[in-house]
Amino acid sequence: MRLEGKVAIITGGSLGIGLETAIRFAKEGAKVAIAGRGLTALEEAASLIRNVSSEVMTAQVDVQAKSQVDRLVDEVIERWGAVHILVNNAGICGLSSFLDITEKDWDEHMNVNLKGAFLAGQRVAREMMERGTGGSIIHMSSVNGIKAEAMQAHYNVTKGGMNLLSMSMALELAPYGIRVNALCPGFIETRLTKSLIDDPRAIADYVKTIPMGRVGQPEEIADAALFLASDESRYMTGHNLVVDGGQVIKLA
Ligand code: NAP
Repeated sequence: MRLEGKVAIITGGSLGIGLETAIRFAKEGAKVAIAGRGLTALEEAASLIRNVSSEVMTAQVDVQAKSQVDRLVDEVIERWGAVHILVNNAGICGLSSFLDITEKDWDEHMNVNLKGAFLAGQRVAREMMERGTGGSIIHMSSVNGIKAEAMQAHYNVTKGGMNLLSMSMALELAPYGIRVNALCPGFIETRLTKSLIDDPRAIADYVKTIPMGRVGQPEEIADAALFLASDESRYMTGHNLVVDGGQVIKLA
């Protein structure tokens, strides 16, 4: 098993990409802690993960709040003694024209997607350094961090920020054996994309922008996250790994 004996924290691990990543990691022998705000979703996710592993814990956490992120890491260390893998996956994506983005929307996107990743990344990196374990930190970024998409200026900026956060952390943490990479999914079928997927005409048009001609599945991102978490990517740090069916290479 590729993650035998490893401890992983996955924020936003109750649904979608985070949940599939948690299941994938658990199948590979990791102990997984999943964090999110909704208790019911967390409990349902934990029962799915328990089908493959008994080593799972849940934490009701809003990643915008430092005290809650710190409590999550404390609880994981208390229970399992270390953190080897962090997936900063919790995220939101609102749709709004640039001129209509409110200050509240802007702040919420920055706080959940970017500040949440900073808070958890900093706290976990300190633990990894103090314990001398090294580790792998993965930022669930997006192709929207590489190219801009209309109606998503606030989201685009958070994902571009996550890519640079990954590189900045990678530079400073490499001497401690801590690798930091960004994973940039294209369009993946989850709650986040449900409104477009449920509109047959809109999704048919959208899929034309994807050279592989289909949307992606959360399992396909989980496989890439496993690669970044495992020793198979041991010489990779500060990298943006794009998994998007070819969407960002297309000029028109
Ligand atoms: P999703 O199905 O909506 O899941 C989002 C997860 O994040 C849920 O577990 C949610 O739980 C959690 N979350 C949201 N706000 C949170 C907060 N403030 N504190 C803690 N947890 C929070 O979305 P997804 O599609 O799997 O997206 C996961 C990540 O992948 C996001 O960062 C997203 O930007 C990125 N991504 C998605 C796509 C895509 O096409 N789906 C493409 C590129 C990148 P609660 O709501 O209960 O807190």
